[in-house]
Amino acid sequence: MSEGGSFKDMNQIITVENVSKRFSPRLSFGEKIAARLGSPIETRTVHAVDGVSFAIRKGEVLGLVGESGCGKSTLGRVIAGIHPPSAGAASIDSAPVMNAAGRKTTTRIQMVFQDPFASLDPRIRIGETISEGPIAHNLVSSAEAKAYVARWLTAVGLPAEAAERFPHQFSGGQRQRVAIARALAMQPDVLVCDEPVASLDVSIQAQIINLFLKLRRELGLTMLFISHDLGIVRHISDRIAVMYLGRIVELGPTEAVYAAPQHPYTRALLDSVPKFVTDADELVSFKPIEGELPSPLSPPKGCHFNLRCPKAEARCRSERPPLDEQGGERAVACHFPL
Ligand code: SF4
Repeated sequence: MSEGGSFKDMNQIITVENVSKRFSPRLSFGEKIAARLGSPIETRTVHAVDGVSFAIRKGEVLGLVGESGCGKSTLGRVIAGIHPPSAGAASIDSAPVMNAAGRKTTTRIQMVFQDPFASLDPRIRIGETISEGPIAHNLVSSAEAKAYVARWLTAVGLPAEAAERFPHQFSGGQRQRVAIARALAMQPDVLVCDEPVASLDVSIQAQIINLFLKLRRELGLTMLFISHDLGIVRHISDRIAVMYLGRIVELGPTEAVYAAPQHPYTRALLDSVPKFVTDADELVSFKPIEGELPSPLSPPKGCHFNLRCPKAEARCRSERPPLDEQGGERAVACHFPL
């Protein structure tokens, strides 16, 4: 199998092929002054996503997990057509998500963001926010927009009258429902959800997760669900992809990966989740991952996990492990899998 273990099959809707995303970080204030004064500034490149390949099947929820800063949000934005890749391509039903000019070519993929308040214009009524895109793309006429908006508000559990309100008149959970309604009103086949419940109270998180599951059932949606919360991803995902410093290191059916991870990083990630005895709320095990995520400005050679891996050998420090199939629809990028 090629690097990235794409598991191509007839049923895939999203294909990610050798996608990399690099960018230059903004200069600090001091560096800007130095540049103005003519001092040479060192060119730096963030390797946010590094040669990633995989596929998402029609109708499935693929969970994408990893520590903060591992590149999962950047990868989600490339797939959703928000950021152009530096190399490789994401496509939907074999059609590239972006054209050569870096413009998104499809409305079939929509994104739901972590912070619903930031993604809604505080000066615009919700009804207009939801209908703006569908009218612009001729999915609905201005004359039919009111009924169209009511349909999507109802679908996410809000009353039709909510269309007349402004974002600040909603709670955090309701605002996220509005953001989901806005995405659905574009009639997508695929939703990229980037930490969509991370900013919500725990009691509201479950309601929004259940809403996603209901919408998936009723609308046949395909989802890429990005989260650092392993419990939530386990609950919602059919398969899981584990990302470390810009690369997918393990991919497979969710329960199989949770039951027996094959990559040392996945093992460490699962071990780092605090576990409690239900009756006494007593912490029974908690093993933080040793060391820190290296900077994506200068990722280590070979396996990116080699600086933190207890199984690392010389080969790990020089040779990138490909994401190889292991059987049972599983793939792992490790020279010495567990
Ligand atoms: S390739 Fe080597 S360093 Fe990387 S996870 Fe496997 S054993 Fe550890």
